[in-house]
Amino acid sequence: MKVYKIACIPGDGIGQEVVPAGEEVLRVLAEVQGSFKFDFETFMWGGDWYRKHGEMMPADGLSHLRDKDAILFGSAGDPHIPDHITLWGLRLKICQGFDQYANVRPTRILPGIDAPLKRCKVEDLDWVIVRENSEGEYAGVGGRVHQGHPIEIATDVSVLTRVGVERVIRYAFKLAQSRPKKHLTVVTKSNAQRHAMVMWDEIALQVSKEFPDVKWDKELVDAMTARMVNRPATLDTVVATNLHGDILTDLAAALAGSLGIAPTGNIDPERRYPSMFEPIHGSAFDIMGKGLANPIGTFWSCVMMLEHLGEAKAAAVLMKAIEKVTANKALHTGDLGGTAMTKDVTRAVCEMIKTK
Ligand code: ATP
Repeated sequence: MKVYKIACIPGDGIGQEVVPAGEEVLRVLAEVQGSFKFDFETFMWGGDWYRKHGEMMPADGLSHLRDKDAILFGSAGDPHIPDHITLWGLRLKICQGFDQYANVRPTRILPGIDAPLKRCKVEDLDWVIVRENSEGEYAGVGGRVHQGHPIEIATDVSVLTRVGVERVIRYAFKLAQSRPKKHLTVVTKSNAQRHAMVMWDEIALQVSKEFPDVKWDKELVDAMTARMVNRPATLDTVVATNLHGDILTDLAAALAGSLGIAPTGNIDPERRYPSMFEPIHGSAFDIMGKGLANPIGTFWSCVMMLEHLGEAKAAAVLMKAIEKVTANKALHTGDLGGTAMTKDVTRAVCEMIKTK
């Protein structure tokens, strides 16, 4: 029987509630499917680890993850530790260390969810946004000079490399090709950023020639926000730089009804390293420890993980179970206007898997 080695990193805040819920659901799914098992190993890295050890994860942390088939991540963020430390010290260390250069975020309005776009039919919003995840505006290049003095200067330099752009745009074209609409929108800002973004556009045109069956268009990032709201059905697969993708995917999550639902995968398409799956929400300290967190974003991330592992049938079973549960308003958590607890939603998804 195939055994998948999964590293679980709950991290901070509600990550510590939703990741164990994800494990529970995956365990039940494996039992019901009968053809594979999971071997989970949990790493308690994050804010508490930082308070004890002065770092978000051990210096040799990646070596504990390297032999895993995938990573299930919760969230990193702590009200008492600066955000750039929690982000760079854990999540980005893993994303960059394992060159997970494609951040993939599917967005749909799940059954039963009251999404804010009242003119949008459920089937109008079915997107996958691919965010460049290894360079660009978040390359980490820059510095501060004359700190604290009136002449202080600070820079964050956006770095786009031909290899980095080409690989993520090719990944997005391939993904678009695999979807029924076969349509890709390349998000740009080459009107104002006349060097790197112009190269980005040139590479998109060049790579598009390898995919004659994929229709594609270009959209300026500012116009893109309006198009997502006003003409959602004109979009299918989208590719954007790190910063643009970061913002657009949060907008996408909000348009789909709640931050608590949206999943993401940090993918190494070449499979040299484990890929990492996580809900897009943060640590939500306002509700932590109360059992109120919506685990659906984590469950949907588990669906993405199963697809990545090649377990398409199990992924479909879990997605169906999730949709059955969201369709029942009595099982909505607070973020969706309901009163259900994390454990109620988890139990319901497990039951649904068992009665498939
Ligand atoms: P961080 O600083 O780690 O990014 P945050 O708490 O500032 O996290 P989010 O966690 O992304 O930001 O979400 C903002 C708010 O949305 C939370 O404070 C919480 O009230 C709500 N929220 C987010 N995720 C969930 C969830 N899974 N279930 C219920 N509510 C959620």
